[in-house]
Amino acid sequence: MDSPNSLFLGKIMSVKHKAQAAAITCIDFRFQQMIEKDLEKRHLEGNCDRISWPGASKDHDKVLEATALSIRLHDPDQVYIYEHEDCGAYQQDNSIETHRQNANKFANSLREIKPSLVVNTLIATFQGISPL
Ligand SMILES: [Zn+2]
Repeated sequence: MDSPNSLFLGKIMSVKHKAQAAAITCIDFRFQQMIEKDLEKRHLEGNCDRISWPGASKDHDKVLEATALSIRLHDPDQVYIYEHEDCGAYQQDNSIETHRQNANKFANSLREIKPSLVVNTLIATFQGISPL
Protein backbone atom coordinates (compact mmCIF):
# COMPACT_ATOMS: atom_id res chain seq x y z
CA MET A 1 0.00 0.00 0.00
CA ASP A 2 1.18 3.50 -0.77
CA SER A 3 2.37 5.58 2.13
CA PRO A 4 0.62 8.93 2.59
CA ASN A 5 3.85 10.55 1.40
CA SER A 6 3.94 8.72 -1.94
CA LEU A 7 0.27 9.52 -2.53
CA PHE A 8 1.04 13.17 -1.90
CA LEU A 9 3.99 13.13 -4.26
CA GLY A 10 1.95 11.29 -6.90
CA LYS A 11 -0.51 14.13 -6.98
CA ILE A 12 1.87 17.03 -7.31
CA MET A 13 4.55 15.53 -9.55
CA SER A 14 4.03 14.36 -13.09
CA VAL A 15 7.13 12.17 -13.18
CA LYS A 16 9.42 10.91 -10.46
CA HIS A 17 12.50 13.05 -10.55
CA LYS A 18 15.67 12.55 -8.59
CA ALA A 19 18.37 15.15 -8.17
CA GLN A 20 21.94 14.00 -8.36
CA ALA A 21 22.96 16.52 -5.72
CA ALA A 22 21.95 19.59 -3.77
CA ALA A 23 24.18 22.68 -3.69
CA ILE A 24 24.05 25.15 -0.83
CA THR A 25 25.48 28.58 -1.47
CA CYS A 26 25.47 32.08 -0.07
CA ILE A 27 23.57 34.72 -2.04
CA ASP A 28 26.79 36.69 -2.71
CA PHE A 29 26.89 37.48 -6.44
CA ARG A 30 30.69 37.68 -6.47
CA PHE A 31 31.03 33.89 -6.19
CA GLN A 32 28.15 32.67 -8.38
CA GLN A 33 30.10 32.33 -11.60
CA MET A 34 32.89 30.44 -9.87
CA ILE A 35 30.37 28.10 -8.25
CA GLU A 36 28.59 27.53 -11.58
CA LYS A 37 31.90 26.51 -13.13
CA ASP A 38 32.64 24.20 -10.21
CA LEU A 39 29.25 22.51 -10.58
CA GLU A 40 29.87 22.13 -14.32
CA LYS A 41 33.22 20.53 -13.60
CA ARG A 42 31.41 18.02 -11.38
CA HIS A 43 28.79 17.42 -14.12
CA LEU A 44 26.06 18.75 -11.85
CA GLU A 45 24.74 21.58 -14.00
CA GLY A 46 21.03 21.12 -14.50
CA ASN A 47 20.67 18.15 -12.19
CA CYS A 48 21.13 19.54 -8.72
CA ASP A 49 18.80 21.38 -6.38
CA ARG A 50 20.05 24.86 -5.53
CA ILE A 51 19.65 26.38 -2.09
CA SER A 52 20.82 29.93 -1.71
CA TRP A 53 20.74 31.77 1.60
CA PRO A 54 22.91 34.53 3.12
CA GLY A 55 25.84 32.86 4.87
CA ALA A 56 25.25 29.39 3.31
CA SER A 57 25.38 26.97 6.28
CA LYS A 58 25.50 29.73 8.91
CA ASP A 59 21.72 29.95 9.40
CA HIS A 60 21.58 26.29 10.40
CA ASP A 61 17.85 25.82 11.05
CA LYS A 62 16.49 27.70 8.06
CA VAL A 63 18.90 26.16 5.57
CA LEU A 64 18.37 22.71 7.09
CA GLU A 65 14.63 23.07 6.57
CA ALA A 66 15.14 23.86 2.88
CA THR A 67 17.71 21.10 2.38
CA ALA A 68 15.55 18.54 4.19
CA LEU A 69 12.78 19.38 1.72
CA SER A 70 15.18 18.89 -1.19
CA ILE A 71 16.12 15.48 0.26
CA ARG A 72 12.49 14.50 0.73
CA LEU A 73 11.33 15.64 -2.71
CA HIS A 74 14.34 14.90 -4.92
CA ASP A 75 16.44 12.45 -2.91
CA PRO A 76 19.92 13.75 -3.83
CA ASP A 77 22.83 11.41 -3.03
CA GLN A 78 25.33 14.22 -2.52
CA VAL A 79 25.31 17.69 -1.02
CA TYR A 80 27.83 20.41 -1.76
CA ILE A 81 28.14 23.16 0.83
CA TYR A 82 29.88 26.20 -0.63
CA GLU A 83 31.11 28.57 2.07
CA HIS A 84 33.01 31.64 0.92
CA GLU A 85 35.56 34.10 2.28
CA ASP A 86 34.65 37.71 3.07
CA CYS A 87 31.02 36.77 3.75
CA GLY A 88 28.85 39.68 4.89
CA ALA A 89 26.58 37.35 6.87
CA TYR A 90 29.56 36.51 9.11
CA GLN A 91 30.52 40.12 9.78
CA GLN A 92 33.57 40.22 12.07
CA ASP A 93 34.12 36.50 12.57
CA ASN A 94 34.95 35.43 9.03
CA SER A 95 37.73 32.98 9.81
CA ILE A 96 38.06 29.78 7.81
CA GLU A 97 37.76 27.90 11.10
CA THR A 98 34.33 29.41 11.83
CA HIS A 99 33.12 28.55 8.33
CA ARG A 100 34.47 25.02 8.78
CA GLN A 101 32.70 24.57 12.14
CA ASN A 102 29.35 25.73 10.75
CA ALA A 103 29.66 23.63 7.60
CA ASN A 104 30.62 20.52 9.59
CA LYS A 105 27.74 21.02 12.02
CA PHE A 106 25.41 21.38 9.06
CA ALA A 107 26.88 18.29 7.36
CA ASN A 108 26.27 16.25 10.52
CA SER A 109 22.64 17.37 10.66
CA LEU A 110 22.20 16.30 7.03
CA ARG A 111 23.68 12.87 7.74
CA GLU A 112 21.10 12.43 10.50
CA ILE A 113 18.37 12.97 7.92
CA LYS A 114 19.94 10.70 5.29
CA PRO A 115 22.89 8.61 6.59
CA SER A 116 24.06 7.55 3.10
CA LEU A 117 24.38 11.16 1.94
CA VAL A 118 27.85 12.22 0.76
CA VAL A 119 28.42 15.76 2.03
CA ASN A 120 31.22 17.88 0.58
CA THR A 121 32.23 21.05 2.39
CA LEU A 122 33.98 23.63 0.24
CA ILE A 123 35.20 27.20 0.49
CA ALA A 124 35.27 29.72 -2.33
CA THR A 125 37.99 32.34 -2.16
CA PHE A 126 38.80 34.99 -4.74
CA GLN A 127 41.49 32.54 -5.94
CA GLY A 128 39.17 29.55 -6.41
CA ILE A 129 37.26 26.77 -4.69
CA SER A 130 38.88 24.22 -2.43
CA PRO A 131 37.85 21.64 0.19
CA LEU A 132 37.08 23.24 3.54
ZN1 LIG B 1 28.15 35.36 1.92
